[in-house]
Amino acid sequence: MDKILIIEDDNAIVRLLTIAMKTNGYLPLVANTGIDGISKCFSKNPDLVLLDMGLPDIDGSEVLAQIKAAVNTPVIILSARDTEIEKIKALDDGAVDYITKPFNISELLARIRVAFRLAKPMPKEDHFSLDYLNVDFLKRRVTIEGEEIHLTPIEYKLLKLLIDNKGKVLTHSFINKEIWGYNSHDDYQTLRVFMGTLRRKIEKDPTKPRFIVTETGIGYRMKDE
Ligand code: CA
Repeated sequence: MDKILIIEDDNAIVRLLTIAMKTNGYLPLVANTGIDGISKCFSKNPDLVLLDMGLPDIDGSEVLAQIKAAVNTPVIILSARDTEIEKIKALDDGAVDYITKPFNISELLARIRVAFRLAKPMPKEDHFSLDYLNVDFLKRRVTIEGEEIHLTPIEYKLLKLLIDNKGKVLTHSFINKEIWGYNSHDDYQTLRVFMGTLRRKIEKDPTKPRFIVTETGIGYRMKDE
């Protein structure tokens, strides 16, 4: 049974989360402070951590830094703060996801399932198929409803990066670094342009993307179902 450590000081949320964890086949562990959370993360070896940012003793970002410095456990941030800067920082600091309070419990459970899938080393697939999009990585062939489409090298690299990380939010700076090899904090315009041309080629309706979701102000996420 997968153990989920809940680091949260709000008892109402702790109760809600522990019930949801138990009824969905997870074993919940609880810490009410950041210090206790770090200590339980090392002593109880949880499979996943749900981390509140506003804790009574130390800040959630400090807890995240200490956990990520020592172990590989996936961390999902739960926070009442919803500024883009906070989200980007948490994701760049190694959190796998960021959920803003108040949250929907079934969405949280879906994000937990994605985090578990991402945590298990996935063999690099040679093929990706979702709805009307098909990518054959061996032949470097992309088809929409069976019709081959042409992608530029950058568009293809972008699509492959998103697919290799499907389900996960990729920040603008992460994508820039992976595609162009540098991390520019102010030049997202180029990325936006390439994302636009990629979407026009693969999405039936680029204004309502089926595959690549915009996380406003943060980055992009490839849907995995
Ligand atoms: Ca709190």
